[in-house]
Amino acid sequence: MSPRLPSNESSDDATTPLNCLRIVYDKWYHASTNLTQSDALRLSASWAVGAVTFPTCLGLLQKFVFAPLQISNSNLFANIFGMFAVAVSGVIASKVMGNAWNLAKDDESVVEAAETSFLESPETLFLVAGTSVSVFVLLRGKFSSVLPSDVLTPGAFGKVNLPASENYATTSKRLQLQVIGKKNGCHSCGSRHIQGEFIADHQPPLAIVKRKTSKTKHLLYRILKFFRKKTKYHPVQQKFYPQCNSCSNVQLTYLSAVSRGLKTPRHLVTHSLSLRLYHIFTPIPLLLASAYSFCTSED
Ligand SMILES: [Zn+2]
Repeated sequence: MSPRLPSNESSDDATTPLNCLRIVYDKWYHASTNLTQSDALRLSASWAVGAVTFPTCLGLLQKFVFAPLQISNSNLFANIFGMFAVAVSGVIASKVMGNAWNLAKDDESVVEAAETSFLESPETLFLVAGTSVSVFVLLRGKFSSVLPSDVLTPGAFGKVNLPASENYATTSKRLQLQVIGKKNGCHSCGSRHIQGEFIADHQPPLAIVKRKTSKTKHLLYRILKFFRKKTKYHPVQQKFYPQCNSCSNVQLTYLSAVSRGLKTPRHLVTHSLSLRLYHIFTPIPLLLASAYSFCTSED
């Protein structure tokens, strides 16, 4: 937001990293204490632009890159893809914020322009990307949760679950799932405020489990079934997650198509509007990159 440019007129001794950081701090402190109301408003507006850009980028990547490529939160490399998405969105949001401030400031501004050209060097870009990722983790973000949810696996918001059997959920479990749903949202799309009640969604879905257990490939299941007419052995451990009607319908549509032998792409649920704490954009990456640029160019 208020990055200080390397200043050729500076007579300060910035030969050591510590001195350099002290100079950067002094300059920022001076700027912040002399900030006019108009500058504060403009800085807030620039920050707001960055704050909108960050989750928007994550949402666009989800919808137009990961969903078409069928990359979901249950993908083997979900955390790597998610980290990439956070890093790219952090860099774009930082650039947009810097540019917004450059446009908004006037000649009276005590904060110098954000020289966004420093964001073009690979080192600085890497620093902004790394800091964005670190801030995301500090805000308790999970990389896989910025990817679309696969309706056949626990979704991006599936933090808490309850043990399940083949049977429908009991009244007590359904009540518990309402509490979990209101707190964490639908496990697939993250919606907290839904029409009606949260559905107790079996994960993996019952239809999938039944198909697996009916196949003769589970040797242990076959042996147990031979000795006991009705064995309780089950090769798959199921869990209950709260799910909204809309996501449940997506799951049902997919499973019904599969049961009719239709070849249909896996249905993924995107959730770009379900914002959480880790979607907050901070100017920390931009400030660090600016300080780094200042100190390295003084050298
Ligand atoms: Zn949902």
